[in-house]
Order: sequence, then structure tokens, then C-alpha cells
Amino acid sequence: MSYNNCQLCPRECGINRNNGETGFCGESAELRIAAMLAHFGEEPCITGRNGSGTVFFSGCGCGCFFCQNFQISHQHIGRIYSSDEFLDGLRTLVAQGVHNLNFVTPDHYWPHIKTACASLREDGIDIPFLWNSSGYANAALVPELCRLIDVFLPDFKFAIPELAEKCMGDSRYPELALKALAEMVDRKGFLRPWDPSGEMTATQGVLVRHLVLPGQLDNSLRTLDLLNEHFGPNLPLSIMSQFQPMPECDRLGLFNTKIAIEDYAKVCEYACSLGFTRIFAQEGLGDDSFAPDFTSDRPFGEKNSPKR
Ligand code: SF4
Repeated sequence: MSYNNCQLCPRECGINRNNGETGFCGESAELRIAAMLAHFGEEPCITGRNGSGTVFFSGCGCGCFFCQNFQISHQHIGRIYSSDEFLDGLRTLVAQGVHNLNFVTPDHYWPHIKTACASLREDGIDIPFLWNSSGYANAALVPELCRLIDVFLPDFKFAIPELAEKCMGDSRYPELALKALAEMVDRKGFLRPWDPSGEMTATQGVLVRHLVLPGQLDNSLRTLDLLNEHFGPNLPLSIMSQFQPMPECDRLGLFNTKIAIEDYAKVCEYACSLGFTRIFAQEGLGDDSFAPDFTSDRPFGEKNSPKR
């Protein structure tokens, strides 16, 4: 798949981004990146001791109004990188000793990522490549991704079509995310090795993330039901409590509060009651250190510092 007649995500805009046209994601075929850094805020088996070499791309085909990275997904903070600069940046991260290369909201830049990953493999670089996505994906793209991507970290945001429609304008999110996830699991299996301590970092497989939303307990419980029904309770999960209201939440008067701790506890308890055992859970609610500021050189503040 390419930037011509772009079908890289389910919006299927069909435009030619090589001509400078932009679709729903708001990005042409010029590569815009907000940050490339060793990141220490992922799950322990992704971060490890040395951090995850993370690339935050600008723009997004999913476009939730509450996006926790709204500065880059909606406001397009970032600068244009040439393909060579991108590759050099990835090599620099590898030289720093990161455990993996972690592409965040990558779908709309797959042609650039594919070329860079293929070059790195030709160079003999063998650390895992991670696909860290919204879950709103074109399942037809997954087989191609799997030729270079080792680990998938898709969100599963919505099990309720009406909620998806309200938040990102496509009621098909649950069915599309499920279809893409099934392809990922079929081809890559579950995340392994499974080491919640982070002593061993993940090399292959799928870990599903779910962000609990304020006042949307039913969505979270139905998400767990759906995941259990399709993949069983051995599916590794990361259940996140870090939601913070973003400016658009205030403007719309929706989700303009942190989540209730009781709701988060109920979601985690329900996951356990279904038999899920491979779960990453978070302590605390809406911790400020999870809210990056991409106008800063250190978007994650101290969270972006090596562990001591
Ligand atoms: S990647 Fe962007 S241009 Fe391409 S289909 Fe998705 S939203 Fe449209």
C-alpha cells in the first residue's frame, strides 16, 4: 500500500498524498514527526531498563476528540523529516541501546516505516519493531506489516458502535478493530516472553491496550467480553487509568473529568473474573506524567529519564 490513492487506514480517503493532498489524518506524504526518543513510560516489558526507542508521528486517522496526544494527532505539532534523517534517527536510538523501535500512531506513515525497517534489517539490526496503534486499522494491511513488525500494541477503545461514532466518527470501530486484531493474533500470537517485571523485554506478539473512559464503564466491560469471546483469557492486556481531559473535552462538555477510581477497579476485577491473568494495571488516576507536552524538548518530563 502506498500514499497514492491512500487506503492506509479505514477512512480510505483515496487521495494522492504524494501530490500534497491530505485526508482525514491531515498529513501528506511528507513525514512529520513530533519526537524520537528513548521512552520510559511504556509497560515494563516494553520499556525494560534502557527504554523503548519511540517515534511519535504527527496526524492520526482515528482522531478521537479526547486524544491524550492531541497536540500531535490534531494540532500536527512536529517537523518534517527526510527519509535519511528518519533512518539516521532510528539508528541513533539503536546505538543508545534501546530494547526496541516503537512506532506510535504509525498507520498513515507505513510506506516510510516499511522502507526504514527494511534498511535496518539489512544492516543486521535485530531488535524488535513495535506497532503502537489506535486499533482502528485496515486488516488488509496487517499481512504486509507482519513481514517487518514483531510486536503489536493496538488499542481496543470502543466495543459500543454508538460511542465510537460519538468519539471518532466511525461506528464501525469495534468490528474493524476486531478484524485487524484477529489478523495480528493469528500471525504473531500473544506477547512473549511474558515478564511483567521488565527483566525480559517482549520480542514478539500482541498486547491489547484499553483506556478506561470517564462514565463509560459499560464500554470497558463490553470490551473485555468481546476480547474474551474472540481471543480467550490468555490474551495479554494493559488496562489504563491514565485518562486526562483534554481541551476538546471542555469545549464539547464531554469526558471533562478524570475517571472514577471505583470504575477502574471494577474493570480490573471484571477482567480477573473472566479469567484474564496477563494484565498490566496502573496505579493512580490521570497521573500528570502520562500527559506529554510535545512543545517541550522533554515531552514526558522526568518520565523520559532513565531509571536509576
Ligand atoms: S491514512 Fe490518512 S489519507 Fe490515508 S486513508 Fe487514512 S486518513 Fe485517509
